[in-house]
Amino acid sequence: MGRAGADAGAALGGLTAMGDGVTTADLTEWLREFARLVDENKDLLTELDAAIGDADHGANMHRGLTAAVAAIDEAAIDQAIATPGALFKKVGMTLVSTVGGASGPLYGTLFLRLGGALGDAEPVGPEAFAAALHAGLDGVVARGKAEAGDKTMFDALAPAVGALESALAAGEPWGAALRRASEAADAGRDATTPMLARKGRASYLGERSTGHQDPGATSTALLLTAAVTALGELPEPVGSAGGTDGTTAR
Ligand code: ADP
Ligand code: MG
Repeated sequence: MGRAGADAGAALGGLTAMGDGVTTADLTEWLREFARLVDENKDLLTELDAAIGDADHGANMHRGLTAAVAAIDEAAIDQAIATPGALFKKVGMTLVSTVGGASGPLYGTLFLRLGGALGDAEPVGPEAFAAALHAGLDGVVARGKAEAGDKTMFDALAPAVGALESALAAGEPWGAALRRASEAADAGRDATTPMLARKGRASYLGERSTGHQDPGATSTALLLTAAVTALGELPEPVGSAGGTDGTTAR
């Protein structure tokens, strides 16, 4: 699909809107960009956690992602990471083993489920990516039992997954769909401020947890920002710019 001589297939629109899809190398870039953004924002994440937790979210995420990037680099030397599944399994296990806080097991599970859903197939198309992110969300829920409005990372991740799936179902191009997911994560993050925390450390504060942005929702919004940067700018295949009404001439 999408190779020379198959341009007529582009008239199918959404199916080919991402070109060949994202590779393990692209997905590695996503993880690196996430690590870079967390590094850049670690003081903010720690300040947010100081207000309603124990002031370690920035340090936790930074430690975990630094270790994950190091593990990827090390594995790359002997070419041990050849597939999306292997990449995210490595990342998830590294986070679980290096981060003691709630975020270690939660993000660890997110990446482990993501890798499990992606498996060895490459490149990864839009629908497969969205389904894998949904599997990651399901993992976070299985692990932490958070629901909408509990003031957790769920409140950024769930809207992002929903927005990505809706945009793809509506036939939007991959890049635009990813941007919608990122915007939904940002809006979800912002919406945590007035919420009363019902899960995690912040829930011990009761009413005093309101009026503060959730640290985990903030780091999750960075994960989606990183996806736009690393995965959203792939070239569109020839012929995908038109509508979905089947007209191709001029
Ligand atoms: P800890 O709370 O152990 O210090 P972190 O500070 O690294 O861990 O992470 C705190 C973040 O974890 C919170 O801001 C929240 O988004 C997220 N979190 C905590 N408990 C849960 C849960 N049960 N489900 C989903 N997310 C949670
Ligand atoms: Mg904390």
